[in-house]
Amino acid sequence: MKLTDTPGISPARAKALKESGILSPEDLIHYFPRTYLDRRTILKIRRLKGSGEKVTVMGTVSAVGVSGFGRKKRYEAILQDDTGQLKGVWFKGISYFKKTIKKGEFYAFFGTVRLFGRFLSMAHPEVEQLSSTDAAGQDQQRQQRFTGIIPIYPGNQFFKNTYITSGLLRKWILLILDRIHIPEFLPQELLARFGYPDRQTAFRHIHTPESPAQHQKALERFKFEELLLFELSVVTLKKEVFDKTPGLVMAGTKPFSSRFFNEVLPFKLTAGQIGALGDIKRDIRSGQQMNRLLQGDVGSGKTVVAIGAMLMAIDSGYQAVMMAPTEILAEQHYHSLSEWLNAIGVTIRLLTGNQKKALREDILTDISGGKAHIIVGTHAIIQESIRFHRLGMAIIDEQHRFGVAQRAMLREKGDNPHILVMSATPIPRSLAMTLYSDLDLSIIRDLPPGRKEIVTRVLKESERNKLHRFMTEQLREGGQIYVVYPLIEESEAMDLKNATEGFDQLRVEFPDVQIGLLHGRMPSIEKDQVMQDFKKNRVQILVSTTVIEVGVDVPNASVMVVEHAERFGLSQLHQLRGRIGRGARQSYCMLMTDVKQSKEARSRLGTMEETGDGFRIAEADLKLRGPGDFLGTRQSGLPEFRYADILNDQYLLEIAKNTALELLEADPELKRHESAALRRKFFPYLEEKKKFFRMS
Ligand code: ADP
Ligand code: MG
Repeated sequence: MKLTDTPGISPARAKALKESGILSPEDLIHYFPRTYLDRRTILKIRRLKGSGEKVTVMGTVSAVGVSGFGRKKRYEAILQDDTGQLKGVWFKGISYFKKTIKKGEFYAFFGTVRLFGRFLSMAHPEVEQLSSTDAAGQDQQRQQRFTGIIPIYPGNQFFKNTYITSGLLRKWILLILDRIHIPEFLPQELLARFGYPDRQTAFRHIHTPESPAQHQKALERFKFEELLLFELSVVTLKKEVFDKTPGLVMAGTKPFSSRFFNEVLPFKLTAGQIGALGDIKRDIRSGQQMNRLLQGDVGSGKTVVAIGAMLMAIDSGYQAVMMAPTEILAEQHYHSLSEWLNAIGVTIRLLTGNQKKALREDILTDISGGKAHIIVGTHAIIQESIRFHRLGMAIIDEQHRFGVAQRAMLREKGDNPHILVMSATPIPRSLAMTLYSDLDLSIIRDLPPGRKEIVTRVLKESERNKLHRFMTEQLREGGQIYVVYPLIEESEAMDLKNATEGFDQLRVEFPDVQIGLLHGRMPSIEKDQVMQDFKKNRVQILVSTTVIEVGVDVPNASVMVVEHAERFGLSQLHQLRGRIGRGARQSYCMLMTDVKQSKEARSRLGTMEETGDGFRIAEADLKLRGPGDFLGTRQSGLPEFRYADILNDQYLLEIAKNTALELLEADPELKRHESAALRRKFFPYLEEKKKFFRMS
């Protein structure tokens, strides 16, 4: 069946639909309503009070016109039902509404009603045109509209050049549903268990529900089926791809660990650190390969846990590798590991992108010959063709920058080391379940004792003098300061210019102070030099682009100034703020913003003033930006769901997971008769997933 087989879908309209990705009648029935107009909630205009209530009204537009001038210019339309009048008012998009809201036509307005003078009005109501210009079946359609629940499709503006109303879509979809046969693929037993309608009925309940509850159940069914397919693939892949290798046995005879914890470590482990180390120990003794995600807020002390894990491997005669997302962070890990571990005879080698050939050869020889116990580098470098002598443990720091694919690659690399992934971005459980479905989870919930709360302030440009005085004072007291500029995605050059200009400006403002500049394009030797100078307090102000975002540790630095703070995501600001508050000094985070920032941006930044809890901040950030943006879309490996929303449908995800486990437990290849349709649907889906894991 083609789209144009449906009465009313002309070739021109079919083309317009195609441009929106609707290619076939099947696609059209998958085009779900945006909302519903429940006849029972439509109010008569006479009953409205105008006290800010949110309602739907229905009637004929009896007059339209533009009034006012300048900023008060607006388009107005009087909507009339058999009991009274109400005015719709549009300040924006006047020319668009002039075209779409016409005198004599029939509409529903939804919005907030207020009383202005003696006139009820709605500012920028949502509008649905209810009378179609399409002559065919108009009377019958009108009748249908007056009973039951009316689906409202994202129409009109979506089909740019061709006028396709919600009413037309509704008509076409009903016609298609009458003609098409939609096969079921969920086993009957599951439908019965969860009380779901079969697929054909479910489509009907979506497009012409008799009650909100009926619609709800149908929608849940569609969410469930996609979550079930996803979870079936997770369970299968985990078995096929990830669990196929037995874990390396770690007997642990050489006593590096005990010397480190007893003689070197200058503090007591927190409960969270002890818990995580316990999980790791259990994993590497289980006979299975460890695949664990360690989550902990910035500054919770994940590095020590990583060291513990690496020493467990080294104690058993294996090597360990630690990978970081940036060269700066890799170098810093190298320095701090060396400080702690050289004393007990652990050999650490750092591999970077621009080492001299002779040095590099030397390092590679140490790695392949087994002389190097720990290898530190960026993940890009480690992925190159390094030959390890006996790799037993791989640590991936700051995981949210690594995709699922990279982890799979590492697993396929040689010895199948145990893997510990570390992330400072706390994400809700449901997100972790989908994103890191192949990982077990350890969480550090506590911070090392004695941390002082960081004072955070949002400052406007007009308060820059205040900032300057504050910085002077802090420097006089011996403090050190970070000044960070945002990454401007479209233009790395702009980004650099901002930071460079800021750097020059500060040199003028603070002539007696040593100021360093750090950005992503510097040769790594210079980067390292600047970082070391800052760490040793030879530099007091460090001006930087976001290269310092993750992991940098300079305890004496107590002030973080973020320029153009409104351009950062909240989680990113939290990461930046995590650079300070690491020493004895009271720390301050100053968020500089443009004057013209929106209300929304201000309340967003307000969250930073209110809380220092990374989990709460991540939650707020996620709600504002959605999972895709939050994680950095493509890189994240986040599966895309059409109907389910992993933030809000967490309970359903759990149910789908348990159902998948149960189905595959009883029938690993879905060979039973009642699973035949599910199998036909599932295997192509699984192939796609496999491709993703290997290649993306
Ligand atoms: P993150 O989890 O952000 O990677 P780090 O591992 O960099 O945190 O640790 C932050 C700081 O806290 C480091 O200076 C580290 O030495 C210190 N630290 C870690 N664990 C403890 C502890 N149990 N007690 C005191 N300080 C600790
Ligand atoms: Mg860290």
